[in-house]
Parts: sequence; C-alpha cells; structure tokens
Amino acid sequence: MDRPLTEHTPDFAKLYPIIGKLFPEVESDYIAGNLLSETFESNNLISIVNYPYLPDLARIEEAYFTVRNTTHHHLSENIDTRIVNPTLLLIRVQWSGLADLMSGRPVHPEQEDGFITVWKAPGKNDLRVAQASSHDLLALKIVSEQLDSRSAALEGGVAVGTIDDILYHAAQKGLILLPKSRLTRPEDFPRGEIDDPGFFTAPTFTLQWHITQTCDLHCRHCYDRSSRTELELAEGIRVLDALYDFCREHNVYTQVTFTGGNPLMYPHFDELYKEAADRGFLTAILGNPMPKNRVEEISALHKPEFYQVSLEGLHEHNDYIRGKGHFNRTIDFLATLKELDIYSMVMLTLTRSNINQVMELAEELRGKVDLFTFNRLAMVGEGAELESVEPESYQKFLTAFVQAAENNPCIGFKDNMLNILRQRDNKPYFGGCAGFGCGAAFNFISLLPDGEVHACRKFPSLIGNVHDSSLHDIYYSQQAKQYRKGSSACSACSIRPVCGGCMAVGYGFGIDIFRELDPYCFMESLTRLPV
Ligand code: SF4
Ligand code: SF4
Repeated sequence: MDRPLTEHTPDFAKLYPIIGKLFPEVESDYIAGNLLSETFESNNLISIVNYPYLPDLARIEEAYFTVRNTTHHHLSENIDTRIVNPTLLLIRVQWSGLADLMSGRPVHPEQEDGFITVWKAPGKNDLRVAQASSHDLLALKIVSEQLDSRSAALEGGVAVGTIDDILYHAAQKGLILLPKSRLTRPEDFPRGEIDDPGFFTAPTFTLQWHITQTCDLHCRHCYDRSSRTELELAEGIRVLDALYDFCREHNVYTQVTFTGGNPLMYPHFDELYKEAADRGFLTAILGNPMPKNRVEEISALHKPEFYQVSLEGLHEHNDYIRGKGHFNRTIDFLATLKELDIYSMVMLTLTRSNINQVMELAEELRGKVDLFTFNRLAMVGEGAELESVEPESYQKFLTAFVQAAENNPCIGFKDNMLNILRQRDNKPYFGGCAGFGCGAAFNFISLLPDGEVHACRKFPSLIGNVHDSSLHDIYYSQQAKQYRKGSSACSACSIRPVCGGCMAVGYGFGIDIFRELDPYCFMESLTRLPV
C-alpha cells in the first residue's frame, strides 16, 4: 500500500520535522529533490550507522507528508460497502517505537519487524500515525480483499462476532470506513421541528425476543398468558443467522434482548445466548430475579449490556401484583447485579393504583439501581383488568417526575410524552420510548416463542412469522410500514420524530391507532394547564 510522494522538492524542515528535530545533522545528507529514504538506501551514510532506524523513520515522515496533502472526498461520501480508508498508507518497518518518536515520545527503537499506519481520521482533519496491531492488519486484509466476515471467521477458526469486533475497532480508529446505516426514516416521514439526524437513522437494530411463555411469576397485568410453542434450538440459531444477515444488509449493529415469560426458563437459554454473543450481538435480559450463580454463569458466557427487572410500586402493592416476596427478592437481586457490575434497570407499569407510589419508589431505589423508569399500562391481556391512569392527571404526574429526576440520578426518561415538556422547557429532546419516539417496527421488532413477529410486544401488532417469511420481507411488509408510520393524527406535530404517542396504550383504549391520537397527549392543552 506504499504510495510515492507526489510533491517534489519540498523543504527539509517541512518534510522531515521529526528527523530535523531529533537528528539535525542529517540535513546535510539531504539532497533537494531526492527522498531521504532513497538516499539512505543507496549510500552508506554515517548517520545510518549511528541510527539504523533512520531509513524507516524517513519513510514514515514521507508518508505523513503525503497523507497530509491528500484530499479524499470518500471520507465524507456515502459508500455502499466497507472500504479501506483511502488516505491510509501502510509502511513496512524493521524497528519498533517509531510511531512513538513521531508523536514526540522519547523512545529507543528496537529491531522488530512490523507495520506503521498513517491516515487521516474520517470526519476530522487530523493525521494519525500508529504501529499497526495484528487486528488492524487483519481488518485491512479482510476489507481490501473484500472477504465477508463469515468466510474470514471460517478461515481463522473464530466466531464471526470476533471478526466483526475487529472490524468495528478498526472502523472506530478510522482505518476502514463502513457504509452508513440503512435503517432510516423515509423522506416523507414527518420532521416537525426536529433536525437532528440522530433521530432519523438507527445505528442498532434490536430483536426483543420472547423466547418462552414459561414464567415463575403470575403478574396481574401480564399482557400475554397464551400458550405458544417454543422454537427448537436449531430454529433459534437460524433466527440469529437471519438477524445477522438483516443487520449486515442494513449496516447496523445488532442487539438481542432476551425476555419471556422468564427467558432463563427457556430450556436452551445458555446455548442460544452464547450463539447470539458469538455473532457479535449486544445481549440484554428482561427477566425476573435469579440466583447469583445463575447470573454469573450467563456473564461468563457474555456480560449482558443490562438486566432489567420490574417493580410495580412499593413493597405491599408490588407483591399484590407480582406475588409475595417479589419486592425483597428484587431489591436483593439489584445488589447482586451491582456486585457483578451489570447495568441494572427497573421498569414499572404505571396504573391508577401505583401512580402515587412512583416518586417514593424512586427514592427507595436511589443508589440501588442504575436506571428506574416506567411504561404506561397497555390495557391488553390481563392488563385490561387494571385501571389506567386518568389522562387528565398525566401532565401533572410527568411534571413531578421530571422534577424528581433533577435530584435523583436513577430516574430515567422513556415515555415519549416527556418530550412535550422538554419542548415547553426549551430542553434538548431525548429519544423517547425506543430512541426514535415510538420505534415499533423501525429500530426493533418483537419475536414471540412460536415465530410470530410483532411491531411491539405491548399489543397485538402482527407483522409476520419467521416460519413463513424472511426478516427482510417481514420488515418491509405493508403491516410493518403501517406501524412504523404510526398515527396520522401525529403527522403535523412539531415533535413527531421523538414521540408518536404509544400505540399500545391507544390500542388498550380501543381507539384507531393509525388515525387517532394517544389519549394521553396533552400537546394541544399544554398552554392551558398549570405547570
Ligand atoms: S400529537 Fe401528541 S402524541 Fe402525537 S407526536 Fe405530538 S405530542 Fe406526541
Ligand atoms: S407502541 Fe408504545 S411501547 Fe411500543 S414502541 Fe411504540 S411507544 Fe413504545
């Protein structure tokens, strides 16, 4: 990948600033118009006898000069496939420590074969020089030879996730360039007043996978107690492969959030979890409290990004909903997660009976959990037996929740409606429920034990079945597009990209979720209600 210097007769000090500074006597060896490295090669100069790594250093400085003067529009253009950074030069060297010398660190180079990379970081104009690691070289080889990750993994006898991880780190450094995510809101998606591109394009696609209906609890608001046949392990692995292909096709990272029922009660949980990790997927668990040794076993396979459990209010109310002893078990379990350094989350389903307990619970959880937040009840399944919060009281509750969050770092925001208050308060918007307001069938889908795919697990929103269709076809089905589009009642709203209401809640109220407004929306009445 060496490339000749394009500019001729540069000034010695400009071309060789490091050599000029460290070895000023070398300037007398320099013949204007000739490269120092070539002069070194053809003459047995005294400076090389004293400093045998000088030819390598000269070649690095020449590469540095070349890269500095390179302009490559590719660095900011869209690309269809992964490519080696077009500014990058790779220089074979026989000495180590030369990249340190280039950075001004005083080292004594040792004789050792290796490679130095010199490149311009994409998106910035800064030049980088570094000793190439074996992983960097592997990433450059894979990309320059246009190998796909699976073949490279097969050749190297490693998991495909290991290869993708190596590519990811090479891309983070800017050695290779990756094509942009193709999971993006369509041009005609309502923009409102939001112009941050981060709210329109998803870097990660999440499969929320309910792998079993089996559960050790029997919560009063469970949204699905139906009996569904679980996938065999081999079928589950095929789903992971299909997910891998879908995410590569869309140039996005993958997350699998295992849930249920209690996902750990799926008989092949460990195997499936490891298969997901081996594909380089981020893994997370939405489940119930488990014994410490069980969490240790899972962490040994692959540390989860987070482990989410649920509480429904203070001790007595929670145990009424989730069963006797659940509250204390959960608090103990949070301590276990902390001890094991696993990010913990507590989710509460907001109902008329627990709305007055939320702030007190948040105080009780302070310091015990990394993030505490809530979902509004979707009156679906057994949840239809519970009472939703009165829409009229919702704005007041949210205002108090936001105030409590100012002094309690464990409180996290999830409900899209909080963005109405952020607009009122002139605060930056946040991503809402799924990072893109309602992300149903956009940056995530839900897969049920029997293969049914739903836009969002919180209400019946069937978009296909993995037994009958590919993930690609399911994602681009008319049904999925309709859920992605959401309610036409929101299309003129200034915050639509970070809101869209909640279709699951609307469904529970029996409204037409594609045309009517989330019953809790207070955007219109905002100015009339007291803050
Ligand atoms: S109209 Fe209401 S529910 Fe819809 S996006 Fe705007 S604030 Fe959200
Ligand atoms: S339907 Fe509701 S719960 Fe589901 S993604 Fe949309 S906002 Fe979130």
